Amino acid sequence: MTKAIRVHVHGGPEVMKWEDVPTPEPGPGEALVKQEAVGLNYIDVYFRTGLYKAPAMPLIIGQEGAGTVTAVGPNVTHVAVGDRVAYAGPIGGYATDRVIPADRLVKLPEAIPFQTAAAMMLQGMTAQYLLRRTYPVKSGDTIVVHAAAGGVGLIMCQWAKHLGATVIGVVSSQQKAELARAHGATHTVIGAAGLPAEVKRITGGAMVPVVYDSVGKDTFAHSIDSLAPLGLMVSYGNASGPVPPVDISMLATKGSLFLTRPTLATYTAKRADLEHAAADLFDVVAKGAVKIQVNQTFALKDAAAAHIALESRKTTGSTVLIP
Ligand code: NDP
Repeated sequence: MTKAIRVHVHGGPEVMKWEDVPTPEPGPGEALVKQEAVGLNYIDVYFRTGLYKAPAMPLIIGQEGAGTVTAVGPNVTHVAVGDRVAYAGPIGGYATDRVIPADRLVKLPEAIPFQTAAAMMLQGMTAQYLLRRTYPVKSGDTIVVHAAAGGVGLIMCQWAKHLGATVIGVVSSQQKAELARAHGATHTVIGAAGLPAEVKRITGGAMVPVVYDSVGKDTFAHSIDSLAPLGLMVSYGNASGPVPPVDISMLATKGSLFLTRPTLATYTAKRADLEHAAADLFDVVAKGAVKIQVNQTFALKDAAAAHIALESRKTTGSTVLIP
């Protein structure tokens, strides 16, 4: 037997149960991974509450982890028993041991500890595609990053600075503002209500070419009002709740804007894209341009406490769960 956190009914953090589960066996194309660290991500909350549809119940939530391959099924070519590996993506992460399609695993460089890997694969590859592909940030750009002191946020601030951009980070407290500035944000705004006015002041009226908004319902309108003509609204999360349906004629009146709702799953669906995103992330981390801040750790069996901290905006940077 192994242990996992399972959700039998959607609901609050209390629906997560630490249970015995049969040791999973890898099928064709799959690997069994003994996990040393599991990443905590906001998407875990969406699957727990039912905002995102569960593939089946009971559900083992969790989409990020790192550990060692302990068995492989037939036709596995990407990894072998004994490899140190990490992943972001397929659900089933809150477990001591899990099976996963082997082509979703990447080999972990020796220099990257398991906890760092579990903290950065999902949030870091998200920052990678947002900054390098959704809107390729250029030196000299001024950009807006919401939840700038969070997991994705601290990585975005550092990486965008490394690319030569000026980051305006949006946060909810003075303490988080200081943290975001210490990680590369040049400007910080507390609360999104004043964002358009602050962006106008900072940019001398030009506004910004892109806003990365992971907060959703509470911030969408303020983000739209911070964009320059032809600007790109990147709505990539719903920490405050989903964005209500949008009247697309608004994009015309606000300056021929672009709107996208991207996911890491789409951007890493092809194996080559996954490998490229991971390599790009490993590179900026190895260079020291991006430092992964594991600011909270919890035992995996205490995942409910971790969710409470995340949802009550008490965490900063990344959080890791230890099986
Ligand atoms: P964070 O560490 O950023 O935690 C969420 C943060 O959102 C909070 O710390 C808080 O920061 C802010 N927030 C604003 N309003 C609320 C609210 N009402 N309730 C709770 N938090 C709120 O989490 P992650 O780094 O794991 O994820 C950040 C976001 O990015 C999430 O929305 C997630 O879904 C999204 N995401 C999207 C991906 C994609 O590909 N589309 C991939 C990865 C993440 P503050 O207190 O400063 O406001």
